[in-house]
Amino acid sequence: MKRVAIIGAGVAGAAAAYALRETSSTLTIFEKSRGFSGRAATRRRDGIYYDHGANHFKTDHERVHRIVREELSVIGLTRIDPDVWTFDGGGTIEEGDPERNEEPKWSYRTGIHRLGKRLALASEADIHLETRITHMRQEEDGRWKLEDQNEEEHGAYNVVLMTPPAPQSAQLLGNADALSEDDVQQLADTLDGVPYRKQLTVVLGYDERLERPGSFYGLINTDGEHDALSWLSFEEDKAGHVPDGQSVVIAQMTPDWSAPRLDDPSEDDIAEAAQEVATLLGEDAAANPDWTDTQRWRYALPEDIADADALKDGKAKNLFFAGDALAGTGRVQAALETGLDVAERIEAHGEA
Ligand SMILES: Cc1cc2nc3c(=O)[nH]c(=O)nc-3n(C[C@H](O)[C@H](O)[C@H](O)COP(=O)(O)OP(=O)(O)OC[C@H]3O[C@@H](n4cnc5c(N)ncnc54)[C@H](O)[C@@H]3O)c2cc1C
Repeated sequence: MKRVAIIGAGVAGAAAAYALRETSSTLTIFEKSRGFSGRAATRRRDGIYYDHGANHFKTDHERVHRIVREELSVIGLTRIDPDVWTFDGGGTIEEGDPERNEEPKWSYRTGIHRLGKRLALASEADIHLETRITHMRQEEDGRWKLEDQNEEEHGAYNVVLMTPPAPQSAQLLGNADALSEDDVQQLADTLDGVPYRKQLTVVLGYDERLERPGSFYGLINTDGEHDALSWLSFEEDKAGHVPDGQSVVIAQMTPDWSAPRLDDPSEDDIAEAAQEVATLLGEDAAANPDWTDTQRWRYALPEDIADADALKDGKAKNLFFAGDALAGTGRVQAALETGLDVAERIEAHGEA
């Protein structure tokens, strides 16, 4: 019986657990936050649901399609029909590339976080929420013990799967007590070499429906020249998210705009973001939201791909890795696939 510990219940960790559910492994998931799905995240407020990390996902990968559309419950799975349009640094909005819009975009009525939650619960793993792994210690026989923020020790585990954003996994490994600290340090260095984009999300809520200058759901800045805005989307286009007659705009701010404000975004910063949205949409009412929210993403999206070959050396230390750094792109479906891939390697680990 292989005892597998999975650090992180984002889509990568949850997908790995899901793929291992019918193997002989016993599965334990440790997740530092209160909920599932990591950066595919949803908040709830007064009957409104809004996806403040990943705004939607696609099922263009065959395995993801099968799992999401055929294996997991499709109750509440909601297709976002309007297209994503583009804008440039000067604020000109265009319909953009039709190919970009061919593949359907999805969330759930009660938010995109359902994806990670459904995967994790279907895995029937032993799940520890609000449990942050703070230290790892390897036993003489190669198995790992994991310590949480309350200094409680868990394990020992034959396999540890690490799925936090790469720099966070690197930090854990860098401080681990391992049989061969040099080897583990090399793994930490490989992960630490993946840069992540910092991003501030500003959520703008309106008690009255906002007008839009086009039939788009989302707007993406394709030339990377806009000073403040990377992406805008409208949560009312997702069934079940926003009561009739209201609007919720998700504004993903550019890394340059976000960086100096990340630690402590002020009321003025939020007002500035709302003004940027109003200017882009040509809609004065957008400058005066009725409520606002923010989320700081210290590790929003990987800007490079991790050296997967170097990380495969972790196998000899019973360490495996998954997550969007392994995909080299900040995409829900790509992160999910890394979880499915690593599950195959974990299943084969230790056999003949
Ligand atoms: C603002 C933003 C917008 C995005 N927009 C899109 C989009 O529109 N479409 C799209 O497809 N993708 C989008 N993405 C990217 C997508 O969200 C990610 O690529 C994907 O969710 C990554 O999943 P993951 O499982 O690799 O990592 P994560 O979701 O980060 O999961 C890792 C988990 O590990 C947990 N964790 C970390 N450290 C520990 C620890 N020490 N102990 C226990 N648990 C720990 C975390 O809490 C987290 O739940 C966006 C991301 C952001 C931030």
